[in-house]
Amino acid sequence: MSAHTRPVLVFATHNPHKVREIQEMLADRYEVKSLTDIDCHEEIVEDADTLEGNARIKANHVVKNYGLDCFADDTGLEVEALHGAPGVFSARYAGTHGDAEANMAKLLRELEHAEQGGNTSRQAQFRTSICLVQQGQEHLIEGVCRGRIERQQSGAKGFGYDPLFTPEGHEVTFAEMDATQKNAISHRGKAVRAMLDHLLA
Ligand code: IMP
Repeated sequence: MSAHTRPVLVFATHNPHKVREIQEMLADRYEVKSLTDIDCHEEIVEDADTLEGNARIKANHVVKNYGLDCFADDTGLEVEALHGAPGVFSARYAGTHGDAEANMAKLLRELEHAEQGGNTSRQAQFRTSICLVQQGQEHLIEGVCRGRIERQQSGAKGFGYDPLFTPEGHEVTFAEMDATQKNAISHRGKAVRAMLDHLLA
């Protein structure tokens, strides 16, 4: 297929690194564009109470207002002893959006409270939900990575809750792994690969 006949697929993000990564994987089959590329600068209010709901809001905003096929992702950390919290609130658990140190401190405090209340589980999972809307059809795709929450941070790589999360079957946290190692087992890696299987089928 020649370059100019590639169907456009929008990734509902302004992050050029995320877009480049997906564009490389979709090679010459799709032209992947960011929100910035399509001049979508308005705030898309993610006020759903589930990860799926937020992914659907973002993808459908683009489809409705720009008439382009689109996919969007949303990720949360779900901790067993906290009944699935912080979940959809992961980015702003401690109040300020994206304050990873404050979010991790709050997570450890909440787990201590749960422990004092008798729940000693440290089990948790990261979950990524992707909503892909293609030719008017909505597909929901999920990737899960199970693991446990450590009592203290280890490692300096990655982002968010990575220094506290040890994936199942491993003895180091996500923050001690390099990106390739993390992507091979991570929630986001699994969700993206499942979406690629669908797009490239
Ligand atoms: P987003 O939906 O990808 O923006 O993720 C929402 C929030 O979940 C982020 O702000 C982080 O706090 C957390 N998060 C998402 N993915 C990861 C990850 O791979 N490692 C650690 N934290 C993550």
